[in-house]
Formats: sequence, C-alpha cells, structure tokens
Amino acid sequence: YDDRDGKIWMDGTLVDWRDANVHILSHALHYASSVFEGERCYDGKIFLSRKHSERLHKSGDLMDMKIPYSVDEIEAAKQAVLDANNLSNAYVRVVAFRGAGEDMGVASSRNPVRMAVAAWEWGNYYGDAKMKGAKLDIAKWKRPSPETIPTAAKAAGLYMICTMSKHAAEAKGCSDALFMDYRGYVAEATGANVFFVKDGEVHTPDPDAILNGLTRQTVIGMLEERGVKVHVRHIMPEELEGFEQCWLTGSAAEVTPVGQIGDYNFEVGALTREIAQGYEALVRA
Ligand code: PMP
Repeated sequence: YDDRDGKIWMDGTLVDWRDANVHILSHALHYASSVFEGERCYDGKIFLSRKHSERLHKSGDLMDMKIPYSVDEIEAAKQAVLDANNLSNAYVRVVAFRGAGEDMGVASSRNPVRMAVAAWEWGNYYGDAKMKGAKLDIAKWKRPSPETIPTAAKAAGLYMICTMSKHAAEAKGCSDALFMDYRGYVAEATGANVFFVKDGEVHTPDPDAILNGLTRQTVIGMLEERGVKVHVRHIMPEELEGFEQCWLTGSAAEVTPVGQIGDYNFEVGALTREIAQGYEALVRA
C-alpha cells in the first residue's frame, strides 16, 4: 500500500502517497498510541461520516489523547482526500496517533498528536465469496475485559490479537476468526460484529466488552423497522449449534453472511439476504 500514486492528507495538508511517512521513533509504533476509523464512501457520500469522526474523538478521549482537529475539520479532510484521488466509491481510513518528539518513554505528553486520512478502492472485505457465507475459525485469544483496556475505543492496541487470530484462521482456510470474551461469551470477529438467527428472531452479543459497531447499530435499527425481535444479550458458545443463520457487520465487511463457525454450519437464509441487500440499498439511499 505504500508505493502508489495518489494523495494522502497528513497533519493538515495533502502530500504525495509515497511521501506519507512518519519517523521510526513515533510513539505509536512503540506503544500502540493510535486510534483509527474505517469508513466506506458510496456514490460520493461516506455512510455515517460524522458518526465515524465523532467516534475517533471518543477513542482519543478514552486514551487521553486529544485529537488536534475538530469533527468538522476531519469531515473536510476526508472530502479533500476523496476529491484529490477522484474517488466516489472507496474505503476511507483515518488514523490519529502520537508522533515522535521530546518523549521516547511510555509518557508522551510532549510529543505531537498527528492525524492522517487515506482512501482507496476496496471491494468485498471477505472477497468474492461474500454471499456464499464466510467460514470462521474460533480464536484462541479472548477479547479483554473493559477493566483491562478501553474496549469501546477503536484503538490499535486492541488489534494485536486480531492479527494473530486472523493469521491462524487463514492458515486453516477460514476467512476470519470469531472471538469469545474474557468471560467466555461470544464477542465479535477481528473487524466485525456478529448476529445470529433462530426461529425468526435475532440474537447479538451485548456490546459491554466489544466495539459497538456503527453497522451493528444500523442493522439493529433495520431489523426493528421490519418488526424482527432482536435480543441483545450474553451468548454462550454452546448456543452456536442451535442458531440457523449468522452474519457479520462492519463498515468494511458491510453485512457478510457466515456459513460456518468451527464445526457449526449456518444457512445463508432469507433474513440474512434481506438484511445484506437492505444494507446495500440504505448506504446508497
Ligand atoms: N468490531 C471490531 C473489532 C472492528 O474492528 C469493527 C470495525 N470497525 C467492528 C466491530 C464494526 O464496527 P463498525 O460497524 O463501526 O465498522
């Protein structure tokens, strides 16, 4: 991703894609002091753009890291990147992080907080098999307690076990991994939330130790509008066997049907298809 044409917004200006570099002693690189957003632009409009920018601020606040740009300025930066790269359907990545400066220890109060925005074309997050149903491994790592790490932040440090779990999943021929949390409840995938269907009703984990995804919230609204009962609750892994359908939600993943988790199989059923198609229509509405 580093060697290509295009423009990236960095600290207030557009720079050439290849010149969007940071110093090797950036605090974020050593101590994971970084928060980010992943968003999708559809036909020129970023879906829930402001909500993503607000969440970036919230993630920064949770890490005692003040983002040096207002929500309006972040909105303008994203638009500038889309315009400069002539993109109307794209993935948008915003990252804010502690840079290099006076401090090289764990404390970073004298280092600047920096921000960058990049955008590029990114098709289906789980590849061409999207509507066939993704195959998920069960991660050996557990999502941590909110008393261990700010689980509501979209922060780089939370993704260390995601990369490890996704690599383990891919080595087994799966496209992603599903985490349990520190209590043993079903949690989320490495970059998406999870939903289950049983007897026409939907079950999804309580977001008390996971990222309460914007797509998750959108899909719960879509289900309620359709009169489908949604149970937001703690889900035990033993229950996987009894669920009939399953899908993942995320800004990148959109609504992706799941065909298999470990040894359990799920059908890509009518409700899964309706919600996946409904979401596609909504983001372009
Ligand atoms: N959980 C994790 C761990 C994620 O990285 C994401 C993607 N941001 C999600 C859930 C889904 O969040 P959203 O719908 O806001 O993209």
